Amino acid sequence: MSKRAYNFNAGPAALPLEVLERAQAEFVDFRESGMSIMEMSHRGAIYESVHNEAQQRLLSLLGNPTGYKVLFTQGGASTQFAMIPLNFLSEGKVGSYVMTGSWADKAYKEAKLVGGVHVAASSEEQKFLKIPELSSIKAADNAAYLHVTSNETIEGTQYAEFPDSGSIPLIGDMSSDILSRAFDVNKFGLIYAGAQKNLGPSGVTVVIAKEELIAESPSHIPTILRYSTHTKNNSLYNTPPSFSVYMVNEVLKWIEEQGGLAGVESKNREKAGLLYEYIDGSDGFYRGVADPGSRSIMNVTFRMQSEDLEKQFVKAAELEGFIGLKGHRSVGGLRASIYNAVPYENVKALADFMKHFRQTQG
Ligand code: PMP
Repeated sequence: MSKRAYNFNAGPAALPLEVLERAQAEFVDFRESGMSIMEMSHRGAIYESVHNEAQQRLLSLLGNPTGYKVLFTQGGASTQFAMIPLNFLSEGKVGSYVMTGSWADKAYKEAKLVGGVHVAASSEEQKFLKIPELSSIKAADNAAYLHVTSNETIEGTQYAEFPDSGSIPLIGDMSSDILSRAFDVNKFGLIYAGAQKNLGPSGVTVVIAKEELIAESPSHIPTILRYSTHTKNNSLYNTPPSFSVYMVNEVLKWIEEQGGLAGVESKNREKAGLLYEYIDGSDGFYRGVADPGSRSIMNVTFRMQSEDLEKQFVKAAELEGFIGLKGHRSVGGLRASIYNAVPYENVKALADFMKHFRQTQG
């Protein structure tokens, strides 16, 4: 087997090697069926058991919160940006959004196409480099929900704690930090995440929601976009992305093997701590982008003295097998995405490379 890259991609991103190898071993003949999971009916017993297992595992990793259901949907987190207002914005209601960066902005703009929106707090004046103070976040009186983006993948910011939304359902886009740390699910009415960062390959989007929120949907919206369609049919209304769901189940098993959320969280904090410590101690050669109190433990964003030097850095890093360090095209700079599956050793290797690169610049 060729050497695996030091993969710091933002998504799709690194998957645990153990999971890839397990999938490879059972790829051609899944559970002695004589076919791969991609080739069998999604209505058969084998696929259904994988589907149900993945849902149960996810809830179990979250501490089996009472009254929650897991849905598998398609169309990415971007489709959730539309489904949320379509399902919840009834006449006279608004969606309250906390504006923290690029992804919150996309969610807000999509909702605006559907109905009334409101800004519950914004850090735009701080160039989205920090998460607003929790005490400043206020949903509108007529809010159908309060929407937060738990981790801004592009800017590299993350909520340390989540706001308390009282009786208004809190909705969280957790696409880039789901299952990376322990948190209280009960605070949320609905959580969604595209799988392709911390949960598996692209193609499936996970929704974890209070059953009462997703049991009934407006009948004037398209059937496939109603949460109730997926709830009533156990996410088997239409053909699910079966291979992606199978991979999610394998990644969830792997998270269990790491000691669940507490286990992955302590590793993630160690990895992020190592990089930020090195950046902060580099006498300004590398500079962290996000406000220290809002730094993400998933996407470490940083800059160098000039764009030219950043380009040289990315090029030199690629030659050494470090992939995906270029910042998002909308903001530039550098970004190391260190999701659950990125091993500590790879992050250590990156810190060592950064040290080495700095030395070569005299
Ligand atoms: N929200 C966040 C926080 C993201 O990072 C992304 C993807 N990078 C999205 C939403 C959009 O996800 P998708 O590509 O699955 O639609």
